[in-house]
Order: sequence, then C-alpha cells, then structure tokens
Amino acid sequence: MNDLIKQFNDLDETLKSLWFFMELSNFDEATIAPKNSGKERGIAMSKLSKIYYEKLVNDENKKLFEELDKLTGIDELTLGRINFVKREYQKTSLVPMDEYSQYAGLLVNANAVWEDAKESGDYSTFAPYLDKIIKYNKKYIEYKGYKDHPYNALLDDYEAGMTVAQCDAFFEKLKAKIVPLLKEITEKGEKIEANIFNKNYDIKGQEKIGNKLMQILNYDLNRGILKESVHPFTMSLSKNDVRITTHYYEDNILSSIYSTIHETGHALYDQNVSDELGFSLAAAGAYMGIHESQSRLHENNIGRSREFWGILAPILKETYPESAERFDPEKCYKESNIVTPSLIRIEADELTYALHVLVRYEIEKEIFTRDIDVMELPKLWNDKYEEYLGIRPTNDSEGILQDIHWAGGSFGYFPTYALGSAYACQYVAKMEEKIGFTTLVAKGDLLPIREWLTEKIHKYGATKKPAWLIKNSTGEDFNPDYFIDYLDKKYRDIYGI
Ligand code: ZN
Repeated sequence: MNDLIKQFNDLDETLKSLWFFMELSNFDEATIAPKNSGKERGIAMSKLSKIYYEKLVNDENKKLFEELDKLTGIDELTLGRINFVKREYQKTSLVPMDEYSQYAGLLVNANAVWEDAKESGDYSTFAPYLDKIIKYNKKYIEYKGYKDHPYNALLDDYEAGMTVAQCDAFFEKLKAKIVPLLKEITEKGEKIEANIFNKNYDIKGQEKIGNKLMQILNYDLNRGILKESVHPFTMSLSKNDVRITTHYYEDNILSSIYSTIHETGHALYDQNVSDELGFSLAAAGAYMGIHESQSRLHENNIGRSREFWGILAPILKETYPESAERFDPEKCYKESNIVTPSLIRIEADELTYALHVLVRYEIEKEIFTRDIDVMELPKLWNDKYEEYLGIRPTNDSEGILQDIHWAGGSFGYFPTYALGSAYACQYVAKMEEKIGFTTLVAKGDLLPIREWLTEKIHKYGATKKPAWLIKNSTGEDFNPDYFIDYLDKKYRDIYGI
C-alpha cells in the first residue's frame, strides 16, 4: 500500500477513535449518567476536543492532503474517505484555535442560558448570546467564503452542495401548495375525531411495541440498542454499534411509536454502510438531509401510511387486548394523520411540519443577509407563524425559544428536515416503480425496501455527496414535486376535499 494512503488511514482511524469516545460520552450523558456528573465530563470533553483539533489541524496534515491531491489511481471508496476527512480538515482549519475554543465555551454558556430562557419565556436574557453566536457565524462565513449567497456557506456544512437557490425554489413551491391546502382543510375538511390515541397506554406495552417495530423494520439488535432519553436521537459509534433512544409518555403513545420508527430509519442507514469503509470517519451517513430522508421515509411514508396501519393496528390490539375494539386500522390511520396548525415544530403533523421549517429558513436567511438586531427576531417569528399557520405565539417559549439549534450555533440545519421528507418521496416514487413499495408495506415485508436503500444510499456512507446520491438512486436530480404531490394526494383523501 502506498505510504501516503497508510498515513491517511492512520489519521482517519485515530480521529475516529477520539470521536468514538466523545460520542460514547454524549450517549452516556443523555441516558444513564448521574445528574451531577456534568462538570468533569465538561473538562474531559474540552480536553479531548482540543486533542481532536490538534490531531486534525496541523502542518503535517496540510502536506498530507496536498500530496494526496497529486496521487493518481486511488480507488473510489478510499478517495471518498479522503475527501470527507479533507472537508473536515478544511472546515475546522478555517477558524484559529483560540476563536474555535472561545466559541465552544460560548455555546456551552448559551445552551444553559437558553434552557432557563425557554423555561421562563424571557428572550431578552438569551438575546445577547444569540447575537454573539450570529456574529461568530458571520465571521465564519467570511473565513469560509461563499458563492452567490452568504447562507450557502452554512447550508453546505449540513447538506454539502445545497444552495439558497435550490432551497428557495423548493420552499416557494411548498408554500404555494401547503398554505392554501391547509386553509382548505381547516375550512372544508371532514372533522376527524380524536378518540383512540388521546387515552393512556401503559409504558410496558409501548416498550413491547417499540421492540416489535424495530424488528419489522429490520434493525439489527445485535448491533444496536434502544434506550430512553428526553429527546430521542440516534448515535452511530460504528456500523456494529448504532444506538437509538426514544421517549415514552403514558398519554401519548404515538410519540414513542413514531420517534422509535424515525430513529430506526436513521439507524438503518448507519448499520448498513459498506464493510469496506472499516472504522473510518466516513463509515456513517453524514449529510443531514440524506440522513433525515431515511428517518422520514420510515416514519412517514411507511409508518403513517394506510397500508402500514394494517400491520400496526393488530400489534396494538394484541398489546392492549382490553382496548382492542378501538384499533380499527382506518380510524387509526386517519387519527394519526390529523392536521392541526400548532406552534411547536416537534409536535407538528406531517403537512404543517414543512411550514415550521419554512419559518426558520426564512428567518435564518434574513439574519445572514442583512445587519439584524436580535431583538427584532421574536416579532419576525410571530408574524411568520401568523401568516403561514394562522396562529400567533403568545410568549417566546412557544415561539422563538422553542428549539435548541440556534443556542448550539446550528444555522443552516433546519432546511435539512424538510429536504429529507422531500428526498424520501422521490425515492418512494422510484421504489414504487421498481419493487412495488406500497404492496411491500401492506405485507409488512420491508426487507426489499431496506435492501434498495442500502444498495442506492446506505452503503456509500459519507463518501458521496447528497446530489450524487439522489441522482444515483432515482435517476434524476432533486425534484420537490414528488413531495408536494404526495402531500396533496394524501391529505385530500384523508379530509375528503
Ligand atoms: Zn431525525
């Protein structure tokens, strides 16, 4: 093996190893760590992050990547791994070490202040932190450079290659369709009563259902585990250790059902990357839009479909025999798809969800286009909710303070939620044509779907960019029409309009 490749492999594996233990610590913190264990973990994490930074950003690696650029005849997979780590190197080396660690410290504090502000509804305490975070990100954009629009620099961090031009076209189309459709549903749609899922269901039963669902979706429990956390998430330490969490509410059974399905969709991606990627940084799904397309495909296109309720309703009957007569598949299907314009994104239905994302996208774009006073933002937020969803927050806890993302410096992240849903519909259209998606879901035979996704997307890990994966899997570039048609058809049918 070429010496440069050997040197690269060692770097890749070392970085992944550091990352492995930092992630493991994050999982531990979110699931079982004692309440007062934060301080020392904070010290350990900041020391490890510094080691990670120094291991990644140094003159030796600069030279290594320059030499690798000149090397010819590298196989595709190795090249993909090199490009991924090089991207990390470039991104991280943009910012001088002292600014980088200062910013990390700012985020830790901002996060704590945001939590209190969210609790009390007092935006003014969080605003100065948000202002600093925005200023840092504006500086970062200048360091990174951009084409056409400053926000492109941020979008690209979460969904490589994604641009404002593409997002604008996507969201404009969505807005033009969903806003009037929502109005039509509210004014003329059939009234769907909620009387199945607003009852209490014991958590033991919910756990059983979650386990059954993971099996039906082909999640490998020998290479994964399900735990509980406040906010559900997926963590991939390696393809052989992909963990998910969920949260149970006795009075909201759909919450644990759909968060388990959602996270399983993420996990299937990470469990099924190619073995050839070994223990490398690129051996997992890395781009957020594509990742979200896997979770949303399982949650929505499968989990919230009429066909899947044919599989799910009998499981509920069996788990809660005393309430068996409630679980009529068609009624469950409709009740699990009730559309209600609400203020809180994470509780939104599939139709209005995209509007919640749209609000954030438009505000973020504005933040990075002009000199904005952070005290203007709550009003901007509330006005947009009123315009698109027809309801107005009465306090900032149910408005601008609801999401953790900005406190964590994640600008450019939100659009990937809506993009993921849209990509998913594009794959489904292709699978319908090639393997009969709907029939497979109706039979509960989901393995061919998982295999199709593995073949077209999962196996590449992070070695290919989103646009390439979409073209490779569906034969065409990203096309939002599939998503828009899907929503239109589904909700007109459910609401009889
Ligand atoms: Zn997700």
